Amino acid sequence: MAVKITELCINCDSCIDECPATAIVSASDSPVNGDVTYVKPEKCIECVDSTMPKCSDACPTEGAIVWDMPYTAEFNDYFVSGHDKGDYAIREHKKNGIMYPSVSPRPFRETISMAARQAHTPVAG
Ligand code: SF4
Ligand code: SF4
Repeated sequence: MAVKITELCINCDSCIDECPATAIVSASDSPVNGDVTYVKPEKCIECVDSTMPKCSDACPTEGAIVWDMPYTAEFNDYFVSGHDKGDYAIREHKKNGIMYPSVSPRPFRETISMAARQAHTPVAG
């Protein structure tokens, strides 16, 4: 991914239309068994072309949007495991199979440390 939405989310849906990658879906459309708005890691580009992630800029709830690991081949096992556990529901492509990072990596912000990502530090809004 990129970024992830936590249980602190109040499902206001303010972030959905702000996402340039259409990576966010409301809780009612979430493909995982969660009660909150969901970020599709296979689509999130961490808003690398902007000063900061647009979702976090729009979010009124501190701690609702946190960093996750880069969606790159290096972290393929992490996302495969998360998908298998049901934390993510990564899209399956008809020809290419499940769009894991090894199949379709996404851009990420190199300025965010791996420690901050592992700790799921809130994305500053
Ligand atoms: S960081 Fe950007 S691309 Fe990723 S979910 Fe948020 S708004 Fe969408
Ligand atoms: S803007 Fe924040 S609180 Fe609202 S749905 Fe998105 S993550 Fe949840």
